[in-house]
Formats: sequence, structure tokens, C-alpha cells
Amino acid sequence: MSATLTPATTSSGQQVFILKEGASETKGRDAQKNNIWAAKLVAELVRSSLGPRGMDKMLVDSLGDVTITNDGATILKEIDIQHPAAKMIVEISKATDNEVGDGTTSAVILAGALLERAEELISKDVHPIIIVDGYNRAAAKALEFLDEIAVKVKPGDKEMLIRIAETSMQTKLVSDVSKELASIVVGAMLQVAEQQEDGSYKVDIDNVKVEKKPGGSLTDTMMIKGIILDKEVVHSGMPKRVEEAKIALINSPLEIEKTEFTAEIRITDPSQMKKYLEEESSMLKGMVDKIISVGANVLVCQKGIDDIAQSLLAKAGILTVRRAKESDMTKLAKATGARLVTNIDDLSKSDLGFAKLVEERKIEQDKWVFIEGCKNPKAVTILIRGGQQRIVDEAERSLHDAIMVTKDVLEKPSIVAGGGAPEAEIASRLRTYSNQVSGREQLAVLKFADALEVIPMTLAENAGMDHIDVLVEIRAKHGQGKKWFGINAITGKVSDMMDFVVEPAAVKEEVISAAAEASCMILRVNDVLASARSSAPSPPPGGGGMGGMGGGEY
Ligand code: ADP
Ligand code: MG
Repeated sequence: MSATLTPATTSSGQQVFILKEGASETKGRDAQKNNIWAAKLVAELVRSSLGPRGMDKMLVDSLGDVTITNDGATILKEIDIQHPAAKMIVEISKATDNEVGDGTTSAVILAGALLERAEELISKDVHPIIIVDGYNRAAAKALEFLDEIAVKVKPGDKEMLIRIAETSMQTKLVSDVSKELASIVVGAMLQVAEQQEDGSYKVDIDNVKVEKKPGGSLTDTMMIKGIILDKEVVHSGMPKRVEEAKIALINSPLEIEKTEFTAEIRITDPSQMKKYLEEESSMLKGMVDKIISVGANVLVCQKGIDDIAQSLLAKAGILTVRRAKESDMTKLAKATGARLVTNIDDLSKSDLGFAKLVEERKIEQDKWVFIEGCKNPKAVTILIRGGQQRIVDEAERSLHDAIMVTKDVLEKPSIVAGGGAPEAEIASRLRTYSNQVSGREQLAVLKFADALEVIPMTLAENAGMDHIDVLVEIRAKHGQGKKWFGINAITGKVSDMMDFVVEPAAVKEEVISAAAEASCMILRVNDVLASARSSAPSPPPGGGGMGGMGGGEY
């Protein structure tokens, strides 16, 4: 028996504490079992939401706010998971979301499946380290196979990009309008993508600004070749619409700065008072005159604007917005071609940006300023509309997936079919490969193959198909070299998915490596030391419901 860190009894019968009182330790098989169990539970939780026939989840937070979603990463982010191993699984969904944007549910399900199968081997006395070695080997090989089967496409192929974006939204609440939304997303992404010398593209997704406003319907969602500011025109005397706009972007205040320290100004007669005020207005007038002199008819200022300056700008007919967000200023510069100016004295004609139209519009209750019709803008906006807040929220999340998969394929133009076809194909190739692996590691490679098949199985189950029949059929097809046969969840048949559902190879790559990494990390743990909670956070009142997942019992 090895040493233990929680109360141990010495030979003389004395108890020795190394950790704080209340700390707990779980070791060996028990620790592994607990961890695997927790990770499997997380996978179980998102399982039913995989694929186009997956169900949505309604999440209620401690304040009673409701979120409806089918996005794996969002589901796991919203619920309060406490178990450390379960948390690691949640981490992989986050990592996948950041890396490739899609495939979050798949990564969690695959990790769960890998651990479940590892447990079977552990119970047959295969050492976890052997399993880890086998899994690592299988994962590396799986990525090789993926690369072999993936189809290279023409960089920037619009039709293909639309199909990819559509697939990512077909599994969501917005699936009915996925085609329309996909073309909007791809249009926006191509507009901001920068082609590299080798023909591939680079995209900074920050240049696609996504705004949302409940009202209207999802089909009213549109792309604006420019930027929308959630602000109104600052003065009622200003024009609300300017065509052929010449836009000045200023990121310093149009105010007379007050001194940092308290200054005392002694005024002894009324004429001095007048002079003092006149001095202030003449400085403000100087600033406004400068803006007029370069020919600007629209001004967006990141800081405040003094009342006097406002009325002077209004008199000059300059449509002005104040206190714009810094991030919006950068995007505006990219969209209109303007240069951000800090010192108004430096402002010149060449710093001005251009837009066909700048207009204040009323969207539901709010007034927003639209800056649109920019020439070859390098930043654009997608405005999401939809029946209600929860719908536009979920649409925004789905659009994020679509934006990310479009980016994936623009940057790495390589695709695979969906519906579990690549997973089934890789599983079949791994089984053949396993003959070259000797010893118990071979068992782990075979289990890795089995785990991959959980993706098509789950898609089938969620589509109401019989998963045993499907497994047999899909294995037979892949045995015959039909590598793109997968689950058509819409027709409920096993068929060639290439003409139907396509996905970025990059997403599958990330799903496999993230799941393998997380499961190996969990398998390597054989000792869980939990320090005592100093003040246990109270569970959310009546909500959550998932809190039972952890609760300290590890
Ligand atoms: P994830 O978070 O993993 O992306 P999704 O719920 O979006 O989860 O489901 C993705 C899975 O659904 C992928 O394996 C994809 O190939 C599959 N899929 C998408 N559309 C279809 C379809 N029409 N038929 C079958 N499978 C589909
Ligand atoms: Mg998806």
C-alpha cells in the first residue's frame, strides 16, 4: 500500500494530517472510475442534441433567464458543472469552439465514448497507460487517414462555402432559413477575406460585426456593406440622412478638457467672465471649423462632444455620432477607408472615409445609425432579425458556427462529407491498421475505432433509426470502399453524403484530436486530491438541476 495524504496512522498509532482538515483523496481504480463516470455523464447530456434531428435544450439560469440552444459549447457553458473531470470535458468543447467553431457536441460525445471503452479495457486489467499509448497512436493514425480521404477544393469557391455554412446551421433552430443565412455569411466573409500569395485566404472574423435586434423575421436578416452603430445622431438639428458621405473619425473629445487639479479662476468684473466663455467657445469653434474645412459631412467621435460644438456642427449640417465604441471605430476605419485621427489639428481631406449613405433609422424602439454602401469595405455587418430575443440569440450562436466553418474552409480548403461518414471510414481503416499493432495496445486501437462509430450511431439514434441495423449497414458499405456513406438524418437512410452534407476537414481534425487529448488526460489520473472548500457556494435556487453532477463527491 502506498503512502496516503489524507489522515494516515503511523506505526505508533498517531494520526498524521498532511492536507487541511476536510480535504479528500480518491485513489486508483476508484478515482479513475469516478472521473470516467463524470465525463460520460457530460457526454450523455449533449448526446441528444447532435445532428439535424437533435433536440434543443432549454436552460434556466439562477436568475430564471431562459436560453434555448442546441449548441454543445453553450449548453455546457450555461450549466454549472463542478466535477473536475467533467470540467475537463467542458474545456474541450470550449477549445473546439475557439479553434474551429463547430463540432463541439461531437468532440464531447467522442471523448465520452473513448472513456467508456477505456473503462471496459481497465476492467479487463489493461493498464491505463497502455490504453493512453494505444489511443495516442490511434489518434495520430486517424488524422493521417482523415488527411488521405479529405477532398481538396478550390480556395474561395462560393458555392462550396455556402454548402459548408449551410451544414453547420442545418442542425440548429434556424435550419429552415439556413440557405439564406449561409449566403449572407459567405458574402460577408468573402468581402473581408484577404487573399494570400499562394491563393488561400486569411480572415479576421472580427471584421464581420454581428448585430441583432428582435422584431421582423429571420429572413429579414441582412448584410450591410458597412457598419451599424447602436447610437443616435447627437443633435436634433442635424441631418438624419447624408448621401455620398465623407466621414471623419476622431477618437479624442470635442470638449475643452478640464484640468486634473482644482484650479481657481478669479473673475473680478463681468467683462472678464464674458471673455473667458468666449475663449472657450472660440477653441471649440476652431475644432469644428477644421472639420468643416476638410469637407466632412459626417463625424463619428469616440469621446464626448460639448453642447456648443454640437450646435456648431448642426449648423454646418454635419451628421454627428458621439461616444462610439473603440471596436466600432476600428471597424469603421476598415469599412470606410477613413483614418482614425486623435489630434483634430492633424485632420486632412485624405483622412476622410467614404460611404454611399449614412442614415439614422428606427429599429423597433431604438435609433441606430447605418453607415452603408462602402466601397470594397474590409469590415461589414450582419444584422440578425427574428421573432423574439431567444431566437435572435440562438441565431447569433448559429451564425458564429457558420462564420467559423467558412473561415476554416477559406483558410484550409479541404472538406469531408458529414453524417458520420468520415468517422465510419476512419474506424474501418483503423481496424485494418490495428493488425500492425502488437500487444495490448492493439485492443486500445480497436476501441478507438469503436468509439468513432458512436458519431454515426448517435446521429442515427437521434433520427429515430435503429442503430444496430445502421451499424451493420454502414460497416458493410465502408468495407466495400464506399467512403462517404453515412447517415442521412433527413431521409432516415444510409447513403452517400458527399452530395448532400459537407463539412470542413479542419473541424473533424479538431474533434478527433481534442477528444483524444482530453480522454488521455483523464485516463492518466489515478489520484484526486480535493482541498476542503473554504465556503461552499450555495446551489442556485431551484434552478440548474445539474448541480448533482459534482457536489464534492470525488
Ligand atoms: P456539433 O456541435 O458537433 O457540430 P451538431 O448538432 O451541429 O453538433 O451536429 C453535427 C453533426 O451532424 C455532424 O456530424 C454532421 O455531419 C451531421 N449532420 C449535419 N447535417 C446532417 C444531415 N442532414 N444528415 C446527417 N447528418 C448531418
Ligand atoms: Mg455543428
